[in-house]
Amino acid sequence: MITSLKSLQPELERRKQAHLYRARRVYDSPQGPEGVVDGRHVLSFCSNDYLGLANHPEVIAAMQRGAETYGAGSGAAHLVSGHSRAHHVLEEELAEFTGRPRALLFSTGYMANLGVMSALLGRGDSVYEDRLNHASLIDGGLLSRANFKRYAHADMDALQSQLQGHAKGEALVAIDGVFSMDGDIAPLDRMATLCRGADAWLMVDDAHGFGVLGEQGRGTIDRFNLGLKEVPIMMGTLGKAVGTSGAFVAGSDELIETLIQQARSYIFTTATPPAVAEATRASLRLVQKDEWRRERLKTLIGQFRQGAEEIGLPLMESETPIQPIVAGTSEQALKWSRQLEGEGIQISAIRPPTVPEGSARLRITFSASHTPEHVERLLEVLSGLELSEA
Ligand SMILES: *Cc1c(COP(=O)(O)O)cnc(C)c1O
Repeated sequence: MITSLKSLQPELERRKQAHLYRARRVYDSPQGPEGVVDGRHVLSFCSNDYLGLANHPEVIAAMQRGAETYGAGSGAAHLVSGHSRAHHVLEEELAEFTGRPRALLFSTGYMANLGVMSALLGRGDSVYEDRLNHASLIDGGLLSRANFKRYAHADMDALQSQLQGHAKGEALVAIDGVFSMDGDIAPLDRMATLCRGADAWLMVDDAHGFGVLGEQGRGTIDRFNLGLKEVPIMMGTLGKAVGTSGAFVAGSDELIETLIQQARSYIFTTATPPAVAEATRASLRLVQKDEWRRERLKTLIGQFRQGAEEIGLPLMESETPIQPIVAGTSEQALKWSRQLEGEGIQISAIRPPTVPEGSARLRITFSASHTPEHVERLLEVLSGLELSEA
């Protein structure tokens, strides 16, 4: 007998009623401020391609050369026959750039977090997480089977008292360098001090800081002038500011060797295509060299914040390219998003469970490939939103 999945229907219906239903938009153009979405020309402010490198000619050419040299696919996991020279050299370049002894590539940031946390922790250990941490850090903590402790966003007193209660086993504090939906920066200096006092490991997921913050884009850890000693585990992703795909973990030789031996999301998955690694190498050079991209971002963010203040938009405490406008209910966020869409502007409504209940929002992001005119147009349309209901 064929079992139907009809029992799933009520939950789908419930999500629609609650304005929580999610749907994809189909893009017919590369990443960039202006594109074609579902057949319409739009001005987009929701990509994580912060430096505008996803569609850079040098990056594309490197990927093409990579495909000619290595073919389309890697063929196997890194520990079998999928670890190419391109992957290997990229790891060396990432280690050098981050100032750490070694780096290890993962296929995605999600898998990197799962792999690190489940390799380093087990029953009897403890993991401490900010309530607004990214889902992959939460899931990594759960998968590790360690005791799971969460504290209110950026509440260092709460973290301190939780750490003081730590008695036995390893302790890991895992944190977003830049909070993905709020755009604020984690207080890494204070966290490092607390971790040192409690003999806890500090792990920073720098998905939104790598390429954007710090000297030459080295990320949030560099911005605080911290290094390997204070933050032994750094995770960075390559699909956001770097513009390609994948992720890496950088740290000591012992850390990387442990991950190679024990991180299941590293061991049991096919390596990304070597051509992607070649594209990432080209992109990484641009990340380091093109200081103007970070400068341009700063200018655009400043322009946006000033303009938004003038029209009375409720800004959040963020100096990064992530500039959310909280709507409150999912219904209101969706309404705003649709209103903007009607004006040819693409910004997605972020709703629970991605953000806490009651804080649904427009997550506006900027890229170095936006122009001041783009920001002006955005402000013009935003000024037409009905804010009173928020
Ligand atoms: C995007 C993101 C990830 C996941 O990275 P992928 O490479 O997209 O899987 C992990 N952590 C944070 C904070 C992110 O924003």
